[in-house]
Amino acid sequence: MARNRYTLCEHVGNPQDWTYTWQVNDDVTLGSSCGFCRRDTLRLTYEVTRGEEVAWICQNCIARYPIGATLDGEPMEPKAARAYAHGLTARLKQTTCQDILRRVQAASPDAELEEVVIYFDRNLQLSPLRAARLFSTMLRVGEQINARVFEVQTRSNAHQQEFGSLSEADRSLVWIALSPQQRRRLASLGFAPADTLVHRTQVRRLPRVEVQLAAPRKAPLTETASPDPALKTSRYQ
Ligand SMILES: [Zn+2]
Repeated sequence: MARNRYTLCEHVGNPQDWTYTWQVNDDVTLGSSCGFCRRDTLRLTYEVTRGEEVAWICQNCIARYPIGATLDGEPMEPKAARAYAHGLTARLKQTTCQDILRRVQAASPDAELEEVVIYFDRNLQLSPLRAARLFSTMLRVGEQINARVFEVQTRSNAHQQEFGSLSEADRSLVWIALSPQQRRRLASLGFAPADTLVHRTQVRRLPRVEVQLAAPRKAPLTETASPDPALKTSRYQ
């Protein structure tokens, strides 16, 4: 997908002059931005250096530019470097989710949640039903986390029907973890929670919402607009 408005900032120069440190940051608040192209509301960023300079950059930039890379002192081809970064990312995301699951499980041990944990370990994603179980438990125990950290499966017909068969309250709960594309698909099947509007324009940009499964208890789930992107400063120094 072309996003022409994102281009390299001038100070970056030649991306090949930068080198991966292989540090990856998983920002579950989606509050990170890219030091190369200024994309914001990012979850994952990758550290690169050029001499004393340090920048944290986005997945689009690592996919797009041939950043310098070495592993154990050996230079790596860009393709191998991307694959290595991809592997680090998958492991980090998995660890983040498993840490959350462990915390929730410790706060509220029960057999249904145990099954959710086993399902996640096997699939690294949640089905709509498991997501609903997990998110409602998170709400109950006051776990503050962005629900979009977990990926919810909605591609197959079976998972779409599973979503559709959830209660209204559970669909609202899982809805906040879905991407605009997932929401549109489910809405087209008539499964959108009743109080939800689906705007076609949402597809054009990354969602600028941070969704918190947050205390206070009993408060309705709300989507809070993130700060004005213009106010955000890059982490690039
Ligand atoms: Zn970028």
